[in-house]
Amino acid sequence: MRFVDSHIHLGSSEYHQYYESIFSLIQNTKIQCFCMSEDSSSSYQTIFLKENYLENSNLLQSFVGIHPQFATELVDVDSFHNFFYSKLENIDGIGEIGIDPTYINSESKNSIESQKFIFDKMLMLAEQNQKPISIHSRRSVSEILEILPSYRIKSAVFHWYEGSKKHLKKIIDMNHFVSFGPYILYNKEKQSMLREANLNLVLLETDGPVGYKNCLEDVMTSPSLIVSIQYLVSTIIEKSFKDTSDLLLANAKRFMNGR
Ligand SMILES: [Zn+2]
Repeated sequence: MRFVDSHIHLGSSEYHQYYESIFSLIQNTKIQCFCMSEDSSSSYQTIFLKENYLENSNLLQSFVGIHPQFATELVDVDSFHNFFYSKLENIDGIGEIGIDPTYINSESKNSIESQKFIFDKMLMLAEQNQKPISIHSRRSVSEILEILPSYRIKSAVFHWYEGSKKHLKKIIDMNHFVSFGPYILYNKEKQSMLREANLNLVLLETDGPVGYKNCLEDVMTSPSLIVSIQYLVSTIIEKSFKDTSDLLLANAKRFMNGR
């Protein structure tokens, strides 16, 4: 059995002291991780992990990019660009990128304009290099749906999808993916969103090291959570665990390799 955690931040400092155990877990359970970045330094870290921990396997798929939280006027776009092209052969995708009004802050020079500017730069890199993208779309799904058609994007996932059902239909029409995380274990609304999704355009994720509530209170978010999420999903979609696994694996491959 193979599993995919389609969105996790292994470069985060919370994981540093657990690297040996997390990487042996990934090796032993064969959970493929799409490893996200949030800014220039975590993008370096993601590439460092790819080059030093799981270099000769496809278990770590490296995504570099600038998250809307850090998409300020102070970002040195040229140096990110240079880094990107210097590491191109070890870059598998672009993420976590997007727009999120929650992070607007005049003191840190984070505005909707700065976020859109950086998002555009990231989309250009994705288009020019035909890389898949992982999108942060909190409170901005409709805006992002307007921007995406301007680019020829290989494939895109609306990670941690929490938009409306109406927008979900548009995402499906545009042949983009949505992903669901550990909250689906206890959140009925998210379970009903999954029922509305196109099962061929669904991915699962942990978004670790983010923590969760209810049954997951005080549990460290590790890629191993994917197994429980997948079990719950198999009961919701009324397929066997094995068939669900095959479906999700095929989806992840299509997401990475293009449609
Ligand atoms: Zn994330």
